[in-house]
Amino acid sequence: MQTPDTVTESNERAAQAESMFRSFLKAEGLRCTSERIDVLQEVYRSDTHLDADGIYNRLREKGTGISRATVYHTLDLLFRINLVTRIDLGHHHTHYEKAFGVANHLHIVCHRCGRVEEATSSRLGGLVEKLCAEQGFTLGSFSLQVFGECRDRQGCDERSGEKPQG
Ligand SMILES: [Zn+2]
Ligand SMILES: [Zn+2]
Repeated sequence: MQTPDTVTESNERAAQAESMFRSFLKAEGLRCTSERIDVLQEVYRSDTHLDADGIYNRLREKGTGISRATVYHTLDLLFRINLVTRIDLGHHHTHYEKAFGVANHLHIVCHRCGRVEEATSSRLGGLVEKLCAEQGFTLGSFSLQVFGECRDRQGCDERSGEKPQG
């Protein structure tokens, strides 16, 4: 559940991400259209992992006339400046999540039923940072996926039986 504090925090984060995106668009000579801002806001308002079609559908439901191409293109732009991360949850298509102000984390994915859990570890972050440094990189952000199977076999079977294609 979100407390008033975390709501304020995430609103501030969204506002900051939006102003970074606006500066980037300006610097690149790209138009700052309301559709592009809508895509960013949709990603930052969500607490789940979204795919491009999911974002497109949500925005269409809200009555915007956005096109699929604009959603994909905007997500590419947001990825380029590290405001969203791309993740592979084993669905043969990419999921996106907000990156600005979000702790780097691990996604643990069940390859049978698709359940996704997140785990954060400062030790893991330190290790990844060290590995990057050894290869001559400065760590930006990361999101890692590991695949396994639920230990709760019954719950897993129930979920995989009614797993929506997505
Ligand atoms: Zn995540
Ligand atoms: Zn499972």
